Amino acid sequence: MSHTSPFPCYQCGACCCNVNRSQETQFLDSGNGVCRYYDYNTKLCTIYDTRPEICRVDKQYQLNYKDKYSWAEFIEINTIACKILNSK
Ligand code: SF4
Ligand code: SF4
Repeated sequence: MSHTSPFPCYQCGACCCNVNRSQETQFLDSGNGVCRYYDYNTKLCTIYDTRPEICRVDKQYQLNYKDKYSWAEFIEINTIACKILNSK
């Protein structure tokens, strides 16, 4: 199934500041849990256009989750994860 709406990321930076929490993103850890490509000032990714596949919600959906969830469900699950990271 294709999807059209983009993932509603509001660029809080919480996922990029907790890359140590997932085995899949630990290789990005600069040493304190923050991704080595995270810009503290802008809260943005400095390699956004070439960021790893694990950082791409839509790519992860297509690769690993499209048979299990609708895009709307996948957005909801990830939005919950954003909120949990934000409450840390
Ligand atoms: S935690 Fe969620 S809302 Fe915040 S930057 Fe990451 S994906 Fe976007
Ligand atoms: S590569 Fe970019 S999008 Fe991925 S965790 Fe690091 S700063 Fe965030």
